[in-house]
Amino acid sequence: MTFGFGLIGASNIAQAHMIAAIRSQPDCEVVSVYSSHPERGFEYAKTNQIPHSANTLEDLLSNPAVQAVYISTTNELHYEQTLAAAKAGKHILCEKPLAMTLDQARRMIKVCQQHNVVLATNHHLRNAASHRTMRRLISEGAIGQPIAARVFHAVYLPEHLQGWRLTNPNAGAGVVLDITVHDVDTLRFVLNAEPVEVTSLTQHFGMGSGVIEDGAMAIFRFDNGVIAQTHEGFTTKYASNGFEVHGTEGSLIAKRVMQQAPMGEVMLRNAEGEQFIPLQHENLYEVGMRRFMGAVNGKDTPAATGEDGFASLAAALACLDSANSRQTVAIPSFKSAAL
Ligand code: NDP
Repeated sequence: MTFGFGLIGASNIAQAHMIAAIRSQPDCEVVSVYSSHPERGFEYAKTNQIPHSANTLEDLLSNPAVQAVYISTTNELHYEQTLAAAKAGKHILCEKPLAMTLDQARRMIKVCQQHNVVLATNHHLRNAASHRTMRRLISEGAIGQPIAARVFHAVYLPEHLQGWRLTNPNAGAGVVLDITVHDVDTLRFVLNAEPVEVTSLTQHFGMGSGVIEDGAMAIFRFDNGVIAQTHEGFTTKYASNGFEVHGTEGSLIAKRVMQQAPMGEVMLRNAEGEQFIPLQHENLYEVGMRRFMGAVNGKDTPAATGEDGFASLAAALACLDSANSRQTVAIPSFKSAAL
């Protein structure tokens, strides 16, 4: 029997990655798409071989063939749409940032629990073979005690994405909610630790309009003592990307791993020399979808839960606070935030 997904939002990311990721899972199919522009929704459905387009959210959510939704609208809509989907009994994979505020994220988690539906956040980078391997090696003691980490993930925002991300503060524009939130989520995953405070500076280099930042650097302190430096940008045409963790007994140096594509390399450098670690690359979004379906079937947890979405959002919002206030800012933990 088909397990039906409804798309909330006729988005680029759904078309580029997620429709295929849904279809990669046994018996899963996209059965409907809701767009706030009915004509565009109809065309989008046709282009992507989706049998139905819904003109209202209610229309999509009242469809019994829809058992789960993938929400990839602009960020300010994730909250209300998640609540509506949970109340309709649909499982939810929501894009990052999970919400615009921590209060919203908290409520999304609570309402999904109340309605007994899965809530997952689409932080894809933790599904990469590179990051999963680094997490395993660190937990096995391959670099001794981790001391410091460095993530560089500055890009040139492709022209077709140069819309609301650069212009609309109400939609959560800016590089911090777009990329820093992913980087801090990946750090949390690889280090298996939580960030407790952050100091950051943001940059306005002419791509983001008005107050919208198009570059950021931050230093996070984690609860295991690690300090981690991150760099994100929309304006760097020729930058590469990577992820490093340095410990008492060795360093893990990963290149070209802050990518949507399954690629990149991880090297372990220690007293014995340098060794490239073999990686079994796999499509990041398909791994996330497999974990999501495992959670729906009660056999697994989502790769990134709602709580992960909360924690990574908390760190990103604190990063913005720090840049605005020119202070080091404490990051609220999910555990300390009452549901
Ligand atoms: P898009 O701009 O493609 O889509 C966002 C919304 O904009 C859509 O829901 C759609 O609304 C509207 N829209 C899209 N194209 C058009 C158009 N041509 N004309 C008018 N309206 C349009 O956003 P992205 O796909 O880049 O991002 C969507 C979400 O996914 C964001 O939350 C983002 O942060 C996240 N994201 C996550 C990634 C990941 O790897 N995890 C990567 C990229 C994005 P409607 O259908 O209602 O009309």
